[in-house]
Amino acid sequence: MALHIEKIATSKISEVDFSNLKFGQVFTDHMFECDFENGAWQTPKIRPYQALSIDPSAKVFHYGQAVFEGMKAYKDDNDEIWLFRPEQNQERINKSAERLDMPAFPKEYFMEGLNTLLKMDSEWVKKGENNALYIRPFVIATENCVSASSSTNYKFMIICSPVQGYYAGEVKVVFADKYSRAANGGVGFAKAAGNYAASFYPAKLAANDGYQQIVWTDASTHEYLEEAGTMNVFFRINDTLYTAPTSDRILDGVTRKSIIELAKSEDINVEVRKISVKEIVEAAKKGELLEMFGTGTAVVISPISAFSNKGENFDLPKLENSYAALLKKKMTDIQRNLSEDKFGWRVKVQ
Ligand code: PMP
Repeated sequence: MALHIEKIATSKISEVDFSNLKFGQVFTDHMFECDFENGAWQTPKIRPYQALSIDPSAKVFHYGQAVFEGMKAYKDDNDEIWLFRPEQNQERINKSAERLDMPAFPKEYFMEGLNTLLKMDSEWVKKGENNALYIRPFVIATENCVSASSSTNYKFMIICSPVQGYYAGEVKVVFADKYSRAANGGVGFAKAAGNYAASFYPAKLAANDGYQQIVWTDASTHEYLEEAGTMNVFFRINDTLYTAPTSDRILDGVTRKSIIELAKSEDINVEVRKISVKEIVEAAKKGELLEMFGTGTAVVISPISAFSNKGENFDLPKLENSYAALLKKKMTDIQRNLSEDKFGWRVKVQ
């Protein structure tokens, strides 16, 4: 694969305070970029991280034709850098792109571009259980034309941001009974930029009421629980874990599918099926709802301490040996090369 590389003259890494990072605000020295023009992806390039010059008429600004991914790289004690199931993100960005009528980005370009970028910016991946490099691949429509139709030109990019694990504090959620994130036949399964834009207003209203996340319900009845903010959601009733099946409304989360496999390998009973608001409320009232947690790349597992449904509040018990804690530890040990990886999920950057 031809890859054009332009290195930065002087790294800006010494200006960065790695002990005080806000999520997604600092970016590494280089970025990966590839343009789709004349019906084909052109020679990809890596060049110093910098602002883009894009015409104001570019379709991304008007119609939101844009998709993205989120993944992480970790550095172990031997200075090796590891990715977690990167082919899943590579496949998913193309599924998202297809739904938004955007061209697929070649797998070889994605993998080799990412690998080269990570090697060039390897100093930005810090060791230690609190550190990771957040990786943001994305595609935007760049045709300079405000007619409401698919763009002819696109830009694929990967940018990287050093991040620290954070303690989010208590996460309280509210079950959605008015707004919806996704509809049947819509784009909920895709990481389409507009899905996130549409969630900010309901999320702000929920935050004003003291809830850190919304658990989205199905758009037609609001009777079934689907996703927690930008995470998939799991419920533990007695000793069984439940999560909703993926559909055209739910993102097929890499963490979700990995947690299902991991839990099964720990002999935890997992059921993938529709979960109703009613049964969760009833289980909570009977004291059988033991845990609720979200899963996603950013935090791996985020335990939920309380939920609200139609104005009624329920606290979850504080467990000594929670599934969330066990599964998070197993998962992060695999991601960070601290344990054997019998699933073959870890991929070395080399
Ligand atoms: N649902 C939504 C809507 C998301 O944006 C994300 C984050 N990508 C997830 C679930 C979790 O997916 P993953 O485990 O692949 O990060």
